[in-house]
Amino acid sequence: MKKLLVVVVTASAVWAHADAYPSKSISIVVPFAAGGPTDRSARDLAEAMRKPLGGATVLIDNAAGAGGSIGANKVAKASPDGYTLLLHHISMATMPTLVRNIPFKVESDFEYLGMVSDVPMTLIGRPGLPAKNFKELVSWIRQNQGKVNLGNAGVGSASHLCGLLFQNALQVDMTTVPYKGTGPAMTDLIGGQIDLMCDQTTNTSSHIEAKKVIGYAVTTAKPLTTPALKDLPTMQDAGLKGFEVTVWQGLYAPKGTPPEVIAKINTALKLALKDPEFIKKQEGLGAVVVNDKRVEPAEHKKFVAAEIAKWSPIVKAAGVYAD
Ligand code: ASP
Repeated sequence: MKKLLVVVVTASAVWAHADAYPSKSISIVVPFAAGGPTDRSARDLAEAMRKPLGGATVLIDNAAGAGGSIGANKVAKASPDGYTLLLHHISMATMPTLVRNIPFKVESDFEYLGMVSDVPMTLIGRPGLPAKNFKELVSWIRQNQGKVNLGNAGVGSASHLCGLLFQNALQVDMTTVPYKGTGPAMTDLIGGQIDLMCDQTTNTSSHIEAKKVIGYAVTTAKPLTTPALKDLPTMQDAGLKGFEVTVWQGLYAPKGTPPEVIAKINTALKLALKDPEFIKKQEGLGAVVVNDKRVEPAEHKKFVAAEIAKWSPIVKAAGVYAD
C-alpha cells in the first residue's frame, strides 16, 4: 500500500512539472564556439522558439571543445527536465566512427526532439591565396605539399570530416589546425594565419560575398542557388567523385526527459521552423530549413541511425578516423 502511494505521488509530480513547463529559462547548448555556424543557427532558433514556448527565455550556452563532444556530453549528463537542450549536427552520426571513445552514446543517451536544417559546406581559402578556382587550388596544394594549413573545429567536427575527406580524395596530407569552432577559425583564415577550411555556408557565404575569403567549391550534389554561392562548382563536378557532405542539424534533450515536455518542445520547434523570419535568415545563408517528417522525434532518431550506418563504412574505407 505504502509503495503504491509513492508511485502515485511521483506520477502526479511529473504531470504538475510537465504542465508548468517552461517555468524558467531554457538553455540550448552549442558544442562549438560563439560566432560559428552552429552558434548562429542556435541563436536564430532560440529567438524563433521563444514565442511558441510562452515567451520563455532561451539562452545559448557555448560548451565548446573536443570537436563538439564536450557540449554533447554535458547535455547527455544534464538533468532530464527540458531546461538543457543540445543543438548538434552530422557529428552525432559521424563521431562514433570518426572518433573512438566518445564519453556518451548517441543512440541511447538522448531524447530526439526533431531536426532543424540541412546546411551545405563550402571549401574556402584565405584572401590572397594564389589560386582563383578549384583547379588552380589543387595545383597550388600539390606544389606546396607539407606547407598547407587546414583549419577545423576539432577532431570529430564536420569541418574535420570534410577536411579529411578532401585530403583523402587528393591523397595529400595537410597540417590541420584545430579551433573550438569555425567562428574563431574564420577569423584566422581571414587574417591569413591558415590557408583553407571547409565550413557550413551559414558561416561562409557572407564572407565569400564580401570577398574576405575565396570560395572554391560546395559539398552538395547539386550547385546552390544562394547568390554568393551560385557560381561555385560542386566537389563532384570539380572532379572529386562521390564527395558529398551536408551538415544536418537537430535538437536533443537528455534521456529521460518526460514525454509531455518533449511534446511541448517539439511543438515549439515545429512552429519555429515555419517562422518566416527564421526561414529567411537561415535560407539566405544557404541552409534548408527542415520541412519534412524528420521534424518528428521518431523520424529524427531513424534518420540519425541511418546516417550512422551510412557514414560508418565511408569513414572506415577512407581510413580517416582519429583517436
Ligand atoms: N563548423 C563547425 C564544425 O566543423 C561547427 C561550428 O563551429 O559551429 O562542425
